Amino acid sequence: MGGKRQDSRDTISWLEDRGWEVDVDRKGYPLARCPCGRHLKTIHRTPSNPEYWKNLRKHVERTCPGGSR
Ligand SMILES: [Zn+2]
Repeated sequence: MGGKRQDSRDTISWLEDRGWEVDVDRKGYPLARCPCGRHLKTIHRTPSNPEYWKNLRKHVERTCPGGSR
């Protein structure tokens, strides 16, 4: 029941914990901006790929380890 939406929320709060800012773009997609300001990532809400969330997290960790305060 609403499992996919929960995944999206979990991932967004995971990103925010890592210092990313998440806004919504004009098309209504969540758009994440990394702590260093050089990386952007559009987030799908209902991806067809079940691995999407896992892959997104890996991608984020590889792209911008971030969190450097
Ligand atoms: Zn970055």
